[in-house]
Amino acid sequence: MGERPSAKKTNAASEPKPPGGEAPAKIGEVDGSAAAPAPRSASGPTGSANGSGSGPTSRRSVKAAAAKPAKPGSRTALVRRARRINRELAEVYPYAHPELDFENPFQLLVATVLSAQTTDLRVNQTTPALFAAYPTPEDMAAADPEALEQLIRPTGFFRAKARSLIGISAALHERFDDEVPGRIEDLVSLPGVGRKTAHVVLGNAFGMPGITVDTHFGRLVRRWKWTDQQDPEKVEEEICSLFPKSEWTMLSHRVIFHGRRICHSRKPACGACPIAPLCPSYGEGETDPEKARKLLKYEKGGQPGQRLKPPPDYPGLPARPLGAE
Ligand code: SF4
Repeated sequence: MGERPSAKKTNAASEPKPPGGEAPAKIGEVDGSAAAPAPRSASGPTGSANGSGSGPTSRRSVKAAAAKPAKPGSRTALVRRARRINRELAEVYPYAHPELDFENPFQLLVATVLSAQTTDLRVNQTTPALFAAYPTPEDMAAADPEALEQLIRPTGFFRAKARSLIGISAALHERFDDEVPGRIEDLVSLPGVGRKTAHVVLGNAFGMPGITVDTHFGRLVRRWKWTDQQDPEKVEEEICSLFPKSEWTMLSHRVIFHGRRICHSRKPACGACPIAPLCPSYGEGETDPEKARKLLKYEKGGQPGQRLKPPPDYPGLPARPLGAE
């Protein structure tokens, strides 16, 4: 266990607004205008954010809707509530970032492939030796499969992952001149690369907006009743329609941060959750503040993070190398 980070930001999660203060828990009530003030201009609505369905489709109609109370359960109420949660998350996690260590698009692509069925921490502990041995697609394409397997063994499913990495690297070498392409249609043409991996690479190595629907993201947006879809592509489509494109990548990081630190799969720490006043699922987890605080993870729980080389604004401790945990 590391020391609790001293940055004030980390206290936000352990000192949630009392749920009772703002009528948090009842579905329907949180959709009402009382719990959802007009959006701030910084992340407020734009025409592009309200793309599909019966929601408002122009800046003028959204402004008009923002001026009066939204009908509980309406599309407008959902958009307002979702954006309010996003603004709260931005305050709780101003330092949200991808939690894989990488220095170029190829490293991010490889790390993302390795992250299947394991933690980003384990990947980050594994990749320094891997990238030292195989720094380019050409190097990795020519790797001895058994040597590569041994290097990535700590991430699990190492035989399948080694095959995948060699296949992707060979395709990059042969078809893309050893460069990771910056278009989704090219990325998903690489063997074993799906939309989720492609979005991670595009959003974080190429700065192209995208929503990453991983297990945390899907769980949280369903808890918040932003969607009831299970299929990741449908979740992506529905959530994209609630937010301006410019928010998509950071929204993904914030939601995933919250899922890893506070809104866990089995025991969400509701009693220590800053989103509690806005959450229709408040009470699904531990509501006792003391007990809930003990469930917090990473920097919110005073523990090391997942990255060995976190960004400079990260308020927590860097992860420890493999074997030093
Ligand atoms: S921890 Fe509880 S209150 Fe917070 S977002 Fe998750 S379910 Fe809602």
